[in-house]
Amino acid sequence: MLADIEQIGRNPRTGGYRRDAWSPADMQLREWFTHQAVTRGLTSHEDRNGNLWAWWGDPAADGPGLVTGSHLDSVREGGAFDGPLGVASAFQAIDLLRGDGFRPDRPIAVACFTDEEGARFGVPCIGSRLLTGVLDPSRARGLADDEGLCLDEVLRGQGRDPGGLGRDDETLAHIGVFVELHVEQGRALQAPVGVASAIWPHGRWRFDFRGTADHAGTTALEDRDDPMLAYARAVLAARLQAETHGVRATFGKVRVEPGNANAIPSLVTAWLDARGPETAAVRRLVEELSHGVEVTEESWTPEVVFDDVLRLRVACAAGFDGHPAPILPTAAGHDAGILASAGVPTAMLFVRNPTGVSHAPGEFAEPADCVSGVVALAAVLADLTGGGA
Ligand SMILES: [Zn+2]
Repeated sequence: MLADIEQIGRNPRTGGYRRDAWSPADMQLREWFTHQAVTRGLTSHEDRNGNLWAWWGDPAADGPGLVTGSHLDSVREGGAFDGPLGVASAFQAIDLLRGDGFRPDRPIAVACFTDEEGARFGVPCIGSRLLTGVLDPSRARGLADDEGLCLDEVLRGQGRDPGGLGRDDETLAHIGVFVELHVEQGRALQAPVGVASAIWPHGRWRFDFRGTADHAGTTALEDRDDPMLAYARAVLAARLQAETHGVRATFGKVRVEPGNANAIPSLVTAWLDARGPETAAVRRLVEELSHGVEVTEESWTPEVVFDDVLRLRVACAAGFDGHPAPILPTAAGHDAGILASAGVPTAMLFVRNPTGVSHAPGEFAEPADCVSGVVALAAVLADLTGGGA
């Protein structure tokens, strides 16, 4: 299934993917999702926030179901597994259960949440944040991409109604439990499959360093008001303070205005991603970096501790040879975290990543481990939907 979509949004020069939400690549992936649903006789639809659903059974008639799945968008120059592995494994797990003649005692769905990475509009997990009401729809409609296009215009351009964005109680009521399978994004997992304990608190902040544009040659050093220097100091300070506070801090995106090689910039806008095991330490780092500069918090996701009863049950079902799957925390954010914070019982399965590389073209999982992931996910679905073969 991953081979079906391996050319979509791929940069042939680097092997990296660019699958921005609502881009032509994303639209092709959405069609692929719907095609996968239809060929399996699943009932597919898009909710009013742009998330895709493929139901085996009818949650409106038979009550809330077990939802699995992930996302299909990518970071820029991302890997092939982050997101699509969870969606493909969800369909494969359903195939496996059906092949065994399994009949679930409640509906099961595959979900694809829209714009999980936030690569285009800056806010991650837009689809699940809108669904659960933690992202204000009018703020979402006004989010602009790098070309200055607002989500509102982008949705209209794709024939969607931006007026429909916002908390969706009807869709939420159909999610009894959510189990997301995802490629592991570090090297912590030694077994083929693991289970998440918690997601670190994390956020994104925009820093605007303002200065005065002037000639790179004729302006004497003492006459300069160069915002690039403040930015450079902030990058180095972020690294030092991350070490001090035991957190992770990254300036991964920067925009320079006007962007002439022979001129002092007037504005440097940079985005800080900070996360760590403790909220207070992350907050302290951002606070310390904020002196004398304009800082806007673009997103904040509190720590998510997954339901411990569900986690143990999932670990037992996903285990091999009588051993429960190992349990580990993650430093990456996920739609599962957003749903868990909204009160949905949620669990995550991770598939081993031998190098730990993620959000880059080198992201990889061995085919045998991906198969173990499908087998584990099918076992979890079977356990939680309690039917019999
Ligand atoms: Zn992901």
